[in-house]
Amino acid sequence: MEARNLTMRRVILSNLFEYLKLNYDFERPADSFVSGQISDREIDIVLSYKSDHRLGELREALARVESGTYGYCIGCKRPLSRADLEEDPAKRICLACEESFKMCHQQAHTPLFAGSAR
Ligand SMILES: [Zn+2]
Repeated sequence: MEARNLTMRRVILSNLFEYLKLNYDFERPADSFVSGQISDREIDIVLSYKSDHRLGELREALARVESGTYGYCIGCKRPLSRADLEEDPAKRICLACEESFKMCHQQAHTPLFAGSAR
């Protein structure tokens, strides 16, 4: 794996670890997570039986590192800003796309004939 990918993997894994520690009294030593040496299979074992949205996001981020799509917006495919990824390493959508998705979402939930039903 490229050095850049390893770095990203480490960042995501240490976030994952902190989250597990905080929310699940996770007691494994941090080393394997923080060094990025933990295998995907081990991660899946650690995460199994936890249906937690945030854990899912972080797991997906790891998969994106693997597939080489990490750090790019899923909407416009442009690279996400470093600041965004530092704020949330599992981020996968840029601000502009997030806004337009929100707008679509809102429109979809606005009744078509709003105001006409009296
Ligand atoms: Zn975008």
